[in-house]
Amino acid sequence: MSKLRVQRGDGDTVDLEAETVQALAADLRGPLLSERSEGYDVARRIWNAMIDRRPALIARCAGTADVIRAVDFARTHDLLLSVRGGGHNVAGNAVCEGGLMIDLSDMRGVHVDAATRRARAAGGATWGDFDAETQIHGLATPGGLISDTGVAGLTLGGGLGWLTPSYGLSCDNLVSLDVVTADGRLVTASAEQNADLFWGLKGGGGNFGIVTSFEFQLHGVGPILFGGMALHPLDEAAAVLPEFIAFMSTSPDELGGLAAFTTTPEGDPALALIAVYNGPIPAGEAAIAPLRAIGDPLADTFAAMPYRVLQTLFDAGAPPGLRYYWKSSFLDALPEQAIDTVIEAIRRRPSPLCKIFLEFLGGAFAGPPRESAVFDHRNSPYNLLVIGAWEAAAEDEAGRAWTRDVWEAMADHASEGVYVNYLGTVGDEGTDRLAEAYGPGKYERLVALKTKYDPSNLFQMNQNIPPAT
Ligand SMILES: Cc1cc2nc3c(=O)[nH]c(=O)nc-3n(C[C@H](O)[C@H](O)[C@H](O)COP(=O)(O)OP(=O)(O)OC[C@H]3O[C@@H](n4cnc5c(N)ncnc54)[C@H](O)[C@@H]3O)c2cc1C
Repeated sequence: MSKLRVQRGDGDTVDLEAETVQALAADLRGPLLSERSEGYDVARRIWNAMIDRRPALIARCAGTADVIRAVDFARTHDLLLSVRGGGHNVAGNAVCEGGLMIDLSDMRGVHVDAATRRARAAGGATWGDFDAETQIHGLATPGGLISDTGVAGLTLGGGLGWLTPSYGLSCDNLVSLDVVTADGRLVTASAEQNADLFWGLKGGGGNFGIVTSFEFQLHGVGPILFGGMALHPLDEAAAVLPEFIAFMSTSPDELGGLAAFTTTPEGDPALALIAVYNGPIPAGEAAIAPLRAIGDPLADTFAAMPYRVLQTLFDAGAPPGLRYYWKSSFLDALPEQAIDTVIEAIRRRPSPLCKIFLEFLGGAFAGPPRESAVFDHRNSPYNLLVIGAWEAAAEDEAGRAWTRDVWEAMADHASEGVYVNYLGTVGDEGTDRLAEAYGPGKYERLVALKTKYDPSNLFQMNQNIPPAT
């Protein structure tokens, strides 16, 4: 076997001896894939089909020991390293070109301790895995809206979901994490142990190590909740959306809400008003009644349904394999002019797959003190997410231009901040955007933490915070 050329973290390449690669393969419990291995193409594929990278090696880790061995191997040979959790991030940092990809997608175990209301999820678990195991006990913690999004990436960046107004972000519900650091140590981060690292992992992404286990606080949820959506024709949106905004501004903390500009099965642009009530069904019905009375919807799907079903409502609308490009900002306000801007934008969307989301924040989202986590912008009332989505590479230019235009047209209403999990590639966004994501003072603290835990920037395929070194 000839040598294997592998990308290094510093941009250079290294030729690894066949025996060196074989020794790693023998040391791992899970398979080590290279370009010629069966399953290589499936393993390198992620949610966003725009990302088409070819790692030299993919370590499909079977457990924490594999993760440590793969990290040690990458560090010893100065390899470019990427880490795959759920593979959902739009920026595509889970896959590297020519380096070593540490793939946790076989590590999906979730263990629930119903007595203490705690759950542990392995580093590659999805929210579908998590909800399946916690809901048999009638328990849950805030997680993402799509069931195959990774617990890892979502939580490490913050984590917004239907339960956020009730219980805060996913990261606010962390009790502890097991982390493999750049020097190959396995450490625990919690309020009591390595508290600085614990703080950094609540919003700082994959910068500080590979998390092999997340321990969450759980809450009694459902298992049946009241929720759904009312779908309005776009022509009614200028009248309907202000009413929804007013409704959400006085809604109880149990209510999670979202306004989604989307496309009907018939191909017409439309506005979906979506809400989920976390509490008894009659209380949910009563709380959502004023929303259902707004305008004259084309469809009303509100009903009592299992929380697990509510957690999959959007799955079909965000399938893997499309080409995606996102832009996002927190918004200070949604005046009439902003509403007109998004309505006009969705009318001229280049593909019916494009969407614009207005997420309603507040409640427990705003609760924790600013210093409790890296995640910032707790006072933002809204989050804008412009979702460019299309099928063919030939549509890339038009799709990207539309997404950027909409986002720029909303700039007057945006606050400085952005949700780090909705950021695109660093080259596209600019490094200042990342500093803005964390707000004043926090970015500098993150650089110091990065310098302490990963001075050589081994973990650089993420929304990267370069170390001071
Ligand atoms: C369809 C869709 C729906 C979404 N819905 C929501 C939502 O409802 N709420 C919300 O808040 N966000 C949502 N997001 C955004 C989501 O939070 C981010 O995309 C998140 O990064 C996805 O995590 P992942 O593990 O699937 O991603 P990956 O692409 O696997 O990883 C993302 C980043 O985290 C790092 N990483 C992954 N696993 C680990 C680990 N175990 N240890 C250390 N670093 C790791 C990766 O290296 C990468 O830098 C959604 C995204 C998509 C595409």
